[in-house]
Amino acid sequence: MEKGELLYEGKAKRVYRTADPRYYLVEFKDDATAFDGKKRGVIERKGFYNNQISAYLFSLLARSGVPNHFVRVVGETQMLVRALRMFRLEVIVRNVAAGSLSKRLGIEEGTPLFRPVVEYYYKDDALGDPMVNESHIEALRLATPGQLQVMQEAALRANGILKTHLAGRDIDLVDFKLEFGVDNGEILMGDEISPDTCRFWDRDTGEKLDKDRFRRDLGGVAEAYAEVYRRLVGNTRGFGQNQ
Ligand code: UDP
Repeated sequence: MEKGELLYEGKAKRVYRTADPRYYLVEFKDDATAFDGKKRGVIERKGFYNNQISAYLFSLLARSGVPNHFVRVVGETQMLVRALRMFRLEVIVRNVAAGSLSKRLGIEEGTPLFRPVVEYYYKDDALGDPMVNESHIEALRLATPGQLQVMQEAALRANGILKTHLAGRDIDLVDFKLEFGVDNGEILMGDEISPDTCRFWDRDTGEKLDKDRFRRDLGGVAEAYAEVYRRLVGNTRGFGQNQ
């Protein structure tokens, strides 16, 4: 599918129109940012790894009954996706305390949570993506209660599927971020699922295999993305396909 007009360029991805208005082309970049863009860098081959890892995990979710925008991989760093109208929300699911949860509530990183925690953040760069609750979301018309319920259920189901699958590859799923959108009245998961948007810890050593290596200057950043790719995609036939 031919790349059309550039619709949006973010920190880690570009989104293009295609000849068919039902589909967009997403291109993953090697650029990395953290702390609201204050820290910038390039992670070698990240665009490739994130495209392939996202394709793999979206395919897994689709096969397991969690609908999402992924259609097929169309290049090393490119995938075709269904065109969605995105909610201005980030949905975060957590299994283990880390990052902002640990800081805000004073819980040591690595402490298991008694049940998965779902959080919502309002996507607004100028405000630094503040956390919102269900009543804010309804009051500000960011989503209806029915839509939010669909998103929450999809997020928790995705958590169960991903957690089990990753455990089989010796990876603990600590937390992750999802985004959703609407196409023809249908709510689908969109965006990406990659080491940029998840915390992946090696089950045996606890080693971080995700963007925290970049955020916290731990070194071995590209190697960590390559390791997740190797454990997930490396030993399959390769490109997943949803439709
Ligand atoms: N996350 C993300 N984009 C964001 C904020 C968070 O992909 O804008 C992911 C992050 O990689 C982690 C999870 O969501 O896997 C929870 O992040 P947290 O709230 O702990 O924020 P952080 O510590 O990254 O600031």
